[in-house]
Amino acid sequence: MHSARVWQVMFAVMVAASPVVVADGVAAVRETSLAAPVRSGDACPNGHVALTFDDGPDPVTTPQIVAALRDHGSRATFFMIGADAQARPDTVILTRAAGNEVGNHTYDHPFLDEQTEQQITDELTATTAILTGMGGPAPTLFRPPYGRSSDAVERVARRLGLTFVLWSYDSDDYEEATPEDMLDQAEKARDGDILLYHDRYQSTVDAVPLVLDVLDRRGICAGRVVPSTTPRQAWLDYDGPDKTYFDAVAGPW
Ligand SMILES: [Zn+2]
Repeated sequence: MHSARVWQVMFAVMVAASPVVVADGVAAVRETSLAAPVRSGDACPNGHVALTFDDGPDPVTTPQIVAALRDHGSRATFFMIGADAQARPDTVILTRAAGNEVGNHTYDHPFLDEQTEQQITDELTATTAILTGMGGPAPTLFRPPYGRSSDAVERVARRLGLTFVLWSYDSDDYEEATPEDMLDQAEKARDGDILLYHDRYQSTVDAVPLVLDVLDRRGICAGRVVPSTTPRQAWLDYDGPDKTYFDAVAGPW
């Protein structure tokens, strides 16, 4: 066999056998096509907490978060904006190839509670059409921007077969929370909780490995977002009278 051909075969075997291949160019692309073997079972005696990242895909920070998750044997859910996904299909495909889930976060991030039922429907169906086939199936999860919802929003989501997802804890990463601040919620979160981040800040990128380490120490794995038949209270830090509920929980992948 010609030596170049031998190298090609050896390289293919190396890529297939190793979850971490440090290289650039083609090798880097192949590296990201490998889904991490996900932590499960005995590694998660205290259950699952779901990490969710809104407002991507971002060409710089999303791949960094995907790599941090993969290096840790973990996965997360990315609620993507349809218009940005349309502009960055490569980042959507990369995110899904590492085993992560992609959810619907509307086409251009409006206040859905100020829109008509037809406008809401258009926002969600356009985004589902864009995300379907970009390295994965049609999204089944939906999160309204800013958590702003209405009866019409929930009705449309139900009609389109989308699970309505809010969050248990808000990292406040969009308000310049530091990675240390973000660890506070990782310490508090319990089995089934959902944490909100945004994959467009360097501080969030820096926080992800630290958050995963905290969950590890607590015997909790980064889980998947699954529908819940029991409504779950959103933003647990809020203790006012008008509590908000949603239809999802963190569970195993
Ligand atoms: Zn958002």
